[in-house]
Amino acid sequence: MDPKRPLPFFSEPTLSTFSARKSFLWRFTLPLVVSVILLFSNFDAQAVHPSFNRTMGGFGEEPLVFERTEDEFSTSVEDTLHMDRISFAPRGDGLGYVIRFHQSTRLDSFSLIQPASDLIQLELFHSNIDTLDIQFPTYNEDVQEVRLYQLENSYGVDIYLGQQLKVISNAYPDMQSQDLLVALTYSTPREVEVYTQQFLARNWYLSINPDNALDILAPAAPSPANLDLEYEQVKGKLRFDTVIIDPGHGGHDPGNVGYRNAREKDVVLSISKKLGSYIEEYLPDVKVIYTRETDRYVDLEERGSIANRAEGDLFVSIHADGWTSSSVYGSSVFFLGLHRSDAAFEVMKRENSVFTNHSDELFNLTEEDLLIYELAHSGYIATSERIAYMIEDQFRTRANRKSRGVKQAGFVVLYQASMPAVLIETGFLSNPAEQRFLTSDYGQSIIASAIFRAIRDYKLEYEKTQN
Ligand SMILES: [Zn+2]
Repeated sequence: MDPKRPLPFFSEPTLSTFSARKSFLWRFTLPLVVSVILLFSNFDAQAVHPSFNRTMGGFGEEPLVFERTEDEFSTSVEDTLHMDRISFAPRGDGLGYVIRFHQSTRLDSFSLIQPASDLIQLELFHSNIDTLDIQFPTYNEDVQEVRLYQLENSYGVDIYLGQQLKVISNAYPDMQSQDLLVALTYSTPREVEVYTQQFLARNWYLSINPDNALDILAPAAPSPANLDLEYEQVKGKLRFDTVIIDPGHGGHDPGNVGYRNAREKDVVLSISKKLGSYIEEYLPDVKVIYTRETDRYVDLEERGSIANRAEGDLFVSIHADGWTSSSVYGSSVFFLGLHRSDAAFEVMKRENSVFTNHSDELFNLTEEDLLIYELAHSGYIATSERIAYMIEDQFRTRANRKSRGVKQAGFVVLYQASMPAVLIETGFLSNPAEQRFLTSDYGQSIIASAIFRAIRDYKLEYEKTQN
């Protein structure tokens, strides 16, 4: 393929194969893909618009059909691309790594984004990619995992990097072979931050045929068969038996109002109810108490009182973030505690003031309050921290969320509850991709089941230490 020629993906014959549904998905992906493709070709942006608009116009109607001439592009739609191996190696110039997708033929097109320092996402376009016998690289602390998703009309790839690795990524076709190369170039943390901020993470499950979605991700419905045998063995000696679920806000307090007017109070109530139903179904010996089950306002002190009256073993407050910049996304888990150093306190203040709108919930506690709390409840704090990390791990590794980390902060609602307590910011409603995720039944199930698994695992761990 002549690298100077426009990549064929945008030519009219290719667009003509779009189904109406694909054009709908495409509406979200086109701007990103165009910006990346432009880097690799002398593609004329003006030429996109007529066919793009005509395709958009075809949404809900018969797909438009274009004439195709054989010599216009060489890739037959019947071609199967065999992807045998993904490998990575340090670059010869010592400036980073290169990840190679070993392919029998060239892709029709591809796009790359890097929405976080530790996440690279590729979308590969080809009529048929065979990955049946693919070999994945031997992972190390820098390149931690590669995941492939077969989407309805393309293929998604997530590459997870170590958080300590600071690189900027680019993709290009190898000139000596049919392979696709992803170059990782060492960069400063600031450069990586600026670079990654321009991208919104892709949620591949949105493009997966819904019939196959659960098979591919398989995260959502926990089933009794998933319960550990060990758990069954200690079940008779239970002590962790009451969980308080606290859906944030409610009534006249909508919480954050995000993209398309998604309201935090509604999203977190749905997630909370799913979490409660998982616990009731799969941990029948655990009692679930809600601070609210309907759209009503409960003040922060009352939420703590409900928890204390029920003598809960764990208080879980569920929230969703919002911020003025729609590019900010990811989940965070907080537990209450005193900052360990002035520097940490400054970081916390800055983080909270920049990335959450919960400042009213944050700073009513004095340092002295927190010190007293810590002296009185050091056991709760250690437990809260442990559970917070288990939830964060579930979000990152199983629910495929970008983690903004585990943090300590002075949330009043946590202070009121005399028990281990965590506050979960499930994601940003101001970010369109996360808004779609958090308002979807599917996304809410994934979030709720991730929290469920962390609670279940903690319960198991706790009960083992009691025996
Ligand atoms: Zn909130």
